[in-house]
This record gives sequence, C-alpha cells and structure tokens, in this order.
Amino acid sequence: MQVLSVLLDLVLLGPPGSGKGTQAARLAEKYRIPAIATGDILRAQVEAGTPLGVQVKAYLDRGELAPDSLVIDIIRHRLSEPDTRRGFILDGFPRTVRQAEALDALLVELGRPLDAVLYLQVDRESLLERLSHRAEVDQRSDDRPDVIAHRIDVFLDQTAPLIDHYRRQSKLRLIDGTQSPELVAAAIDDVIGSLADPTGPSPGG
Ligand code: ADP
Repeated sequence: MQVLSVLLDLVLLGPPGSGKGTQAARLAEKYRIPAIATGDILRAQVEAGTPLGVQVKAYLDRGELAPDSLVIDIIRHRLSEPDTRRGFILDGFPRTVRQAEALDALLVELGRPLDAVLYLQVDRESLLERLSHRAEVDQRSDDRPDVIAHRIDVFLDQTAPLIDHYRRQSKLRLIDGTQSPELVAAAIDDVIGSLADPTGPSPGG
C-alpha cells in the first residue's frame, strides 16, 4: 500500500500565468483529489449572476483581489466537503498573508497540516508573454494587457510575502516554472515523492 494515497494537502503558489492551473489539474487526476481554484469558483459565481458574483465582478475585471473574508469563507466551506478527505490542491489560495493565516488556523482546527507549498517561479517577461498568448484564445475579461500587468503587480505586492510565510514553516518547495509543463510536472512529482517516502532523505539534509 502506498503512503501517498492516504493524505496529500498541497498549495500551489505562483504568479498569474505560472502554470498553476495546468499542474493542479494533472495532480488532481493523478492523486484523485480535488483541485480547488478560487479564481474558477469566483468566475463561476460571476457567470451565474449570484449575489456573490455581483459583489466580486468588479474586482476580477480590474485584476484586484476579492475581499479576504469572502474567499476565506469559500475555502472554509469547500474544505468541509467530503471529497477533500483524502487531500486537496489549492490553486490561487491563499493570496494574502491574511488568507494564509486563516488557512493555517483552519487546518489546525481540522488537524491536517499542509504537506507542502509548491512555488512555481516564473520571471515577469515570460508571464507577460504567456498571458498575452492566452488572451488570444480565452475570453477572460481580465486577460487584457493592462489588467495582466496589474495582476502581476498585485501578486508581487500581496502574494509574494507568502513565500517567506511558508519558508518559515519549512513548507516551501521551489519549482522552476519556466520549463515545459512536462518538466514542471516531473519536478513536482520529485517533491511529492520525497514527501511521501518516510525513509527518504530529508530535504537539505
Ligand atoms: P490568475 O492566477 O491567472 O490571475 P485566477 O483564476 O487564479 O487567475 O484569479 C483570477 C482573479 O480571481 C484574481 O485576479 C482575483 O480577482 C480573483 N481571485 C482568485 N483567487 C483569489 C483569492 N484567493 N483572493 C482574492 N481574490 C482572488
């Protein structure tokens, strides 16, 4: 029996366009645990025209973050659903220090600490290029050049501090996100493999 299949709680951290969604989907399929993307959840609410969607639409369109309290509530409810029992992959949450602290508290409550925070590192130039390509195929209202640049700035300003937050918890694992999706996937699998193997070497000795 594989220890791996018991419980795997991950956060994917990285700027817009770093490939979190692609990797989250692959991990969800491989480990049969849900990928939870707050951006997808919020966009679905906007499209459905729910009161929450009406409330957050302007934030999304401008590339600003939705209010912490709303997003934290969404995650609290989502993590109480039974499909998360064997693990989860958070994609796009947490995005502020306040969200990270709320998640820490929630996971203490649930008695299930994060296994790792995978930080997909990609330089600004590559992000701008990737996102402008994506803008040609998708219909996201926030994939306009000015909004794209702003989302990257919001990441650097509000989300990048989480790198230190998780480094202090010894949860942070750096992944070179400029590589091909296949190589990024392989690097992630290496990290997960090292977590799951109780006899394996501890990272950094
Ligand atoms: P990307 O990472 O490419 O910007 P996402 O789908 O993750 O795309 O996020 C799109 C938008 O959804 C963000 O710009 C923000 O407005 C909102 N959003 C997503 N996750 C959060 C979050 N954790 N906190 C606040 N706002 C969020």
